[in-house]
Order: sequence, then C-alpha cells, then structure tokens
Amino acid sequence: MITELFPSNKSKQNEAPFVIAGPCSVETPEQLMTTVGQLKKEGISWIRGGVWKPRTRPGSFEGVGEIALPWIQAAKKEFGVKFAIEVASANHVELALKHDMDMLWVGARSTANPFTVQEIAESLKGAKVPVLIKNPINADLSLWQGAFERFQKAGITDLAAVHRGFSNLREQVYRNSPMWQIPIDFKRTFPEIPMICDPSHIAGKRSLVQIIAQKALDLSFDGFLIESHHQPDLAWSDAAQQLTPQALGEMLKNLKTRSIHF
Ligand code: PEP
Ligand code: MN
Repeated sequence: MITELFPSNKSKQNEAPFVIAGPCSVETPEQLMTTVGQLKKEGISWIRGGVWKPRTRPGSFEGVGEIALPWIQAAKKEFGVKFAIEVASANHVELALKHDMDMLWVGARSTANPFTVQEIAESLKGAKVPVLIKNPINADLSLWQGAFERFQKAGITDLAAVHRGFSNLREQVYRNSPMWQIPIDFKRTFPEIPMICDPSHIAGKRSLVQIIAQKALDLSFDGFLIESHHQPDLAWSDAAQQLTPQALGEMLKNLKTRSIHF
C-alpha cells in the first residue's frame, strides 16, 4: 500500500518526506539513465517521468510514447529504482502494467474529465499498482473528490492525492495558484488519503520550488512529486521549473521539518 511509503503520523516530525523525482518527460535513453543515476546518488529511489503528456495546446511536445517503456525498464534494472508514469487512457494503463511500472498517476487534465477517470479506474481493476490522482486543472474540489469516488467505487483503494495548483486566469507569480485551502478541504473529506505536493508545477520557475515545498511541509503534506533533469535548460518540456538532481538534493536538505498540522 502507498501509505506504507510515508513517514508514520506519530514520527512525522523527524522523518524525511517521501520523494518521487525525475524529469517532466522521458526524452532519450541517455537523458533517462543520466538523470536517474544522478538522482540515485542524491538518495532518491522513486523516479517520475512522463511518457504520454496531455498538453493544453496542440504543438507542444506530447511525449515519446510507448518506446520509452523499455528504456524505463532498463533504468529500473540498472539503478534498482521504482518508477511512476502518467496514464491518460485504458490503453496507457495496459501498456504501463505490461512494462512493470510501479506507480501510475492521473494528470490534472484527465482528472477534469469524468469519463477518462472512469475508464482509467475500470482498466485498473485487479491491478496492484498504487495510483496518484492530481487535482483537476481548475479549482474544482468536487471534481477531485469525484475522481477518488470513481476509483474507490471501482475497488481501487491504493491511492494518494497530488496537489499541483490551479490554472491562473492571468500571469501570476506562480504558474499555478496553490490555493492551499483546496487540498486542506480535500484532506478533511478524505483524511485517510495521503496528500503529496508537486511544487514544480505550482512554482513554474526553479527559484520558487523551495518556497512551495516548505509551505507544503509546514501544512503536513506527506511527500513530494518534483521535476528534476540532468540538464534542465535543455528539457523538452517544463525546462524553467526543473532542478538538477544536485540542486534537488540541496533543496531537500534545506527544508525545515513540519510545524503545523491539518
Ligand atoms: C507533469 O506532471 O509533467 C504534468 C504534465 O502535470 P500536470 O498534469 O499536473 O499538469
Ligand atoms: Mn511537467
């Protein structure tokens, strides 16, 4: 169960948070191997990487697709890490499970679509893999709650929530408004569901990632999903917000332990 990966509530004060880190997108076998190797050196053993990337506007990089799955299997074998990828259809789920992915996540654009959520939930029946459900792209608490209800009704209960912020109407300091009240309200209705923060997609700039991560720790979030790339400025997607593995390790060391509780 995913809950076993998080520091237990009693000892939360002193334990390091659970961290999943890795590139926004899996780009090439070389990029993946180098980034994962460097993350492993920083003590990260759960890796993320987008293979299929639903984008808001056409023309942006939408992921290399299925060919990345054997590259991920090779990186898992080489470094002994676990891997999480995004799925946006039943076909993605089938391919991900066939290629030994250890965790799946539903992206913000998919959470906003109940038919997509239903399709993914049903395709996971009987699977053992934990699933993260990101908040919907817009500030709609009910859609997020509804996605969890759909999964639970399909018998999928190994779940965690990811707060990745909400679309802004106009340019703001953060790429996506954190609106911290929404994950806090979510937690009141689903107290048993772990809450992970994705500071990368909230911040949008690498200089702001630590501020968001610290706030999440102060609010007793259970862990992080963070973007990290060995050459962030050359990344094929979300270049501005990715940290090098070394900068990520440094940032995690600088975070202060939790102070406030839900
Ligand atoms: C991502 O994790 O790279 C991503 C596209 O996230 P989101 O669905 O939160 O926009
Ligand atoms: Mn991204």
